Formats: sequence, C-alpha cells, structure tokens
Amino acid sequence: MARRKKIYEGKAKTLYEGPEPGTVVQYFKDDATAFNAEKKDVAEGKGVLNNLLSEFFMTGLTNVGIPNHFLRRLNMREQLVRACEIVPLEVIVRNYAAGSMAQRLGIDEGTQLPRPIVEYCLKDDALGDPLVTEEHIAAFGWATQQDMDDILSLALRVNDFMSGVMFGVGIRLVDFKIEVGRVYEGDFQRLIVADEISPDSCRLWDIESGRKLDKDVFRRDLGSLTDAYSEVANRLGVMPKGATPINRPTLIN
Ligand code: UDP
Repeated sequence: MARRKKIYEGKAKTLYEGPEPGTVVQYFKDDATAFNAEKKDVAEGKGVLNNLLSEFFMTGLTNVGIPNHFLRRLNMREQLVRACEIVPLEVIVRNYAAGSMAQRLGIDEGTQLPRPIVEYCLKDDALGDPLVTEEHIAAFGWATQQDMDDILSLALRVNDFMSGVMFGVGIRLVDFKIEVGRVYEGDFQRLIVADEISPDSCRLWDIESGRKLDKDVFRRDLGSLTDAYSEVANRLGVMPKGATPINRPTLIN
C-alpha cells in the first residue's frame, strides 16, 4: 500500500493529503501541550474524543448554515476536511473573562462580559501567538477588511451556536478559539471555519459546579483530561459505543 503524504504535523493533529484533490485528512493525536508546548503529556483517548467532538460541532454548524471545512469522519481518529488556505490568525471569542484576558486586564475569572468580545492573535509559535489589532492585520496584509467583516460574522455565529448547544447540556461556553480558511470556488473565494472545535480550543465550565471540562484541566493540573473530555462527549451523546469515562479501552483506535 502506498504511503500517504504528510502535509503538516502540528501539536495535536497531523495532516495528510486526502484521497481526492482538494481534501485533507486530519489525524487527531493524544498529545496534550500547553504554554506554547513548554508543558507536554499524552492523554490516552484525547484524539478519539476530539475527533468525535469536532465532527459533532462542525456538523452542527453545517446544519445551521455556518460554512466549515468538515466533510466526513473516516475512523475513530481521522476526518476528511476541505483543503483551504488558513488565515494566519487565531480568532478568540469570549463570553466570560478567563485565561490571558483575565490576567491582562485584571478581571476576575468567570466575570460575565457585557457582550461577546472577539480578539485576534497572530498564528506564530515563535512569537507565542501575540495579540494583534485590526490595524496590524490590515497593515501587514494578513487579511483584508472584507475578510475581517466575514471573520467577525463567522465567529459570532459560531459563538451563538456553541453557547446554545453547550448550555443545553449544562455547560457554560466561557471562550473559544477558531481558525478560518480561504477556499476558492470558480472566480469567488470565501472564508470557512477550519481546524477543529473541541475542548482543546474552548473553555467549558459545568454550570452547576464550575468544574472545568477543557484543556485548563491539563494546563492547571486539575485531574484527568480524558475524563473531562469524556464528560463533555457523554453529555452531548457522542461517546463511542461501549465506552464510559471509567471503562475506556474502546477509545484507543
Ligand atoms: N486557545 C487555543 N489555542 C491557542 C490559544 C488559545 O485554542 O493557541 C483557546 C483557549 O483554549 C481558550 C481561548 O482560546 O479557550 C482563549 O485563550 P486565552 O487567550 O485565554 O489563552 P490561554 O489562557 O489559553 O493562554
């Protein structure tokens, strides 16, 4: 069997050339990293959970008309997505203060924000993904003004969808990050949601107890990352058959 071509290896995923032109296979690894990869570990089963959860969220986005790169899940660790040119920005939407914004502005974690706040960071690991303004983005040509209008609209639509879905299972969507990709259709180009949507890229707090169900469990040593992500998957009904947070053997593909 011919070896498939690796396109890119990131911290949590590896990308391979897809079986058809214009497609890419996303393989979800178990590697957990934080603080720009200064902290590393392996969380057994995380890749399977994020593959299933990202499928669930992206399919939900498609169902409400929010364009995204997801095509279909291939197996427990891989999904087929549309190839796109990634805009070099991390788009962060915040509903409650947490993480870097709480620190930067001296706001208590968990404070509800007066409205969703959208922030942009330049995707550049060597620089630690610095926060940038729309002035930087326009001046350096990372995206056009039209792109920025589209990105803002996509980000807020994803926020509305995700907040509602999570609220329905007793979880608060504190903040999240999306990436956006450019696709070309004939003479037109448009922007779509790309990468992944999973507890690796969201802050998710249990509404009743405040328990963290996201990557902060790893960042802050709060227990088992796989248990936290399994809880999210269970509540959303996307846990693989026969698997429970305690009995996880079927998670390993
Ligand atoms: N985030 C992410 N990847 C990054 C940086 C942030 O997925 O490289 C997510 C993070 O999980 C959180 C949101 O974006 O849900 C806001 O993160 P923040 O700026 O507070 O940074 P952090 O505290 O993670 O350094």
